[in-house]
Amino acid sequence: MKDLKDLVRPNIWEMQPYSSARDEFHGSASVFLDANENPYNTPYNRYPDPMQLLLKDRISELKGVGVDSIFLGNGSDEPIDLIIRAFCEPAIDSIVSIAPSYGMYEVAANINNVEFRKVELTKSFELDAERVLEAANAWVKVIYLCSPNNPTGNSLEREKLYKILNTFSGIVVIDEAYIDFSSEPSFLSELERFPNLIVLQTLSKAWGAAGIRLGMAFASPKIIAILNKIKYPYNVNMLTQEQALEILNNEERMKEQLRSILSERIRLQAALPLLNCVNKIYPTDANFILADVENANATYKALVKKGVIVRNRNNVTLCRGCLRITVGTPKENDALLAVLKKL
Ligand SMILES: *Cc1c(COP(=O)(O)O)cnc(C)c1O
Repeated sequence: MKDLKDLVRPNIWEMQPYSSARDEFHGSASVFLDANENPYNTPYNRYPDPMQLLLKDRISELKGVGVDSIFLGNGSDEPIDLIIRAFCEPAIDSIVSIAPSYGMYEVAANINNVEFRKVELTKSFELDAERVLEAANAWVKVIYLCSPNNPTGNSLEREKLYKILNTFSGIVVIDEAYIDFSSEPSFLSELERFPNLIVLQTLSKAWGAAGIRLGMAFASPKIIAILNKIKYPYNVNMLTQEQALEILNNEERMKEQLRSILSERIRLQAALPLLNCVNKIYPTDANFILADVENANATYKALVKKGVIVRNRNNVTLCRGCLRITVGTPKENDALLAVLKKL
């Protein structure tokens, strides 16, 4: 990896972050007259902890990663954007990602006027590490990879991810939004080996909390310090911090839901290929199944008509004819199968 100083945009490296009242004073006190807050409406009158320390302590315990290697944001979408803003000079630098994959990498690049270079997966949705590395020229500061990948559902091959981590001298982001559904281990355990690695996870999928918006980025303390320097001071609000802690303290509940989702995934994987309208389904390591169906647009519309919404991926690279189906409750999956059976 290059020196971090040579990867970060010079203005970001040089700048001083905003210093809030809550950043300045640490310790206990009973009279807070430092932040121009209204003294009434406890507890919502107070600004939240800008560094989310209680929450990070719990995440540190759950994930086995030091508190100073954790960044929390308003969904994963926030670190996806901040990483580009930290490392990529608008109109000069670029990022590389794969296609098909999660749409936010390209949107975040476009918003920041950073060129988005995409490398297609193979027909069987495998990563072509050589072509990713070829695309990563001197202006490419970040490579975004998603594993298990959305919308294909497969985990990218571990050896190819190692190849990219070992060869590329910039930042490699591995988005593990679906890791809890996967039989593959997380790359969190590789953070110490690869100083250029950033792992993204989220409370939006397995933890069942998309509504509260909490995304996690894990990386070396030096990279995390840069993200902290450029985030909005109070990027994770008090309600989210409290609710996230409550959710993360109930790991058993999450595991129980995970068991149900995984067993329903097996049931759908058995039932879908038997239907006339389903040509094939792709292997999945996530909580969704990519299904190649007869006339995807018509099938999508037939489902909508019966109140069942799936994601039509018919116009996405390599996904022609495909619907992406999230695994729901047993009842929801029954409703899906009942409509498809009649087509
Ligand atoms: C759903 C998803 C996320 C989650 O984004 P949040 O902003 O945390 O809700 C991140 N990455 C991928 C690939 C996803 O599919």
